[in-house]
Amino acid sequence: MAETSNPVRTCVGCRKKATVNDLLRVVVVAGELVPDPRRVLPGRGASLHPTAECLRAAERRRAFQRALRSSTPVEAGPLREHVLGPSS
Ligand SMILES: [Zn+2]
Repeated sequence: MAETSNPVRTCVGCRKKATVNDLLRVVVVAGELVPDPRRVLPGRGASLHPTAECLRAAERRRAFQRALRSSTPVEAGPLREHVLGPSS
């Protein structure tokens, strides 16, 4: 029971709630979406299931831009590489 806190977040892709252990934290650094699997980077973060499906859904709806309160479009390059693997 009394484990360390295990908060619940909503995935920006599928909008389902999950514990942070199941979600990848994403932050925006210099206009790019950067994965933060260890949840150590400062700033506002968005949560995403690290799957191609949820990544695409979030991109399609520009959910990252909204969740991260970015006034400009965010580039998913580093995040996409993390989720989908290199050379995609
Ligand atoms: Zn999801």
